[in-house]
Amino acid sequence: MLAAPARDGSVFQQIFADHWQAFQQAHARYQTPYYDALVRKMLDCGNPVKMGAVEYRCLHCGQGQHLVAMSCKSSLCLRCAKVYTDNWVSQVSQVLHEGVIYRHIILTVPAMFRMTFYHNAAVVLSAFMRCGAQCLDDFYSTVKGKRLQGGYITVLHTHGRNGQYHPHLHVLATSGGYEAEGASWEHLDYLPYALLRRKWQWHLLTMLRQTLKTEAIKPLVDTCFRKYPDGLVTNVQKGAVPAQAYSGARYVAKYVVSPPISVRRLDQYDGERVTYHYRSHRTERMEQETVPVATFIGRMVQHVLPKGFKRIRYYGVQATKTFAKVKGVMQAALAKVGAVVKGAVKIIARLTYRQRYAQRTGRDPFRCPHCGAEMAVWRIWQPKYGVIDDEGAVMKRGTYASTAQRAGP
Ligand SMILES: [Zn+2]
Ligand SMILES: [Zn+2]
Repeated sequence: MLAAPARDGSVFQQIFADHWQAFQQAHARYQTPYYDALVRKMLDCGNPVKMGAVEYRCLHCGQGQHLVAMSCKSSLCLRCAKVYTDNWVSQVSQVLHEGVIYRHIILTVPAMFRMTFYHNAAVVLSAFMRCGAQCLDDFYSTVKGKRLQGGYITVLHTHGRNGQYHPHLHVLATSGGYEAEGASWEHLDYLPYALLRRKWQWHLLTMLRQTLKTEAIKPLVDTCFRKYPDGLVTNVQKGAVPAQAYSGARYVAKYVVSPPISVRRLDQYDGERVTYHYRSHRTERMEQETVPVATFIGRMVQHVLPKGFKRIRYYGVQATKTFAKVKGVMQAALAKVGAVVKGAVKIIARLTYRQRYAQRTGRDPFRCPHCGAEMAVWRIWQPKYGVIDDEGAVMKRGTYASTAQRAGP
């Protein structure tokens, strides 16, 4: 992957360059090689000397040049986050099936358990994602009085809008499920939310009790049942996804995969304090917040997931093989209820570096600014191995003709 052109990603880098060491010394949790590598890579991101680069040159007039630094792909890097978001949008949109009605369901964790999640992330988060799918299967089955299996694309978020720790699940759920015995698809038009809230509470608390098995968890679970007799907050977005057009799918995908704080939301950094803004759920307005730099760093690193953790997972009939099997049954059933939205899911392709650059600047980075010819890869340089591909040297040796061209990345 090639690095996105720098915006104020450099402010973010500066914050970590100035304060990461002190922050790490104060927080034992982050004193591991895993975090060291994430921060080091992020600090080098966009620097061609540290990261390596691809150099493009115009082979027509010999004047045009364009240097692209390799990206760091660190999950902490906001410069790379925009690209990740776009790729995720693409990934999610590709697994939404045309003609199937999805609902966007949000399953939350009450504030009293947030610390439990934070301290036990490595064991709890996977179980948490799985239990969301189990809860919805149970919910659909109870509503229909038959054993149903739905399809779920589940995305884990650990952050609220302002970057605080607030684990919750976004589920793109089929509205209904597959009934294996009769080999039929049971569509659910109406979802009783009160029941969903109680089901979610039961599944979440049971999962916590079984996963953690500690003395401390039992009283918390009991308190939670007493404190919330009507169940936990779940939120079903009104209307089906896709709503009217593919924009629905895009909206949801984008919303679901956005990073904790986007680079564009950093307003100010004076060496000690950071000001950023975010759109608040509560007020539905842009809110600005200024926090000490250590708080800011903490808000960013707490969302780094355990190594290798998959943030998007597919459950039930949404798993590819099962889906192929039930697709016919599903579509026939939906056609009967008149709920098929034809062509509503548009696959959103991931953008190449060239497209992203053009979108941002209105300029094709690989078109020679002097003569207008298409430029070609001239040299690929990598810090560990040095020059790994050198067209100039190849041409001088006369191995092949000078018109050699390559497709951009
Ligand atoms: Zn990066
Ligand atoms: Zn040229």
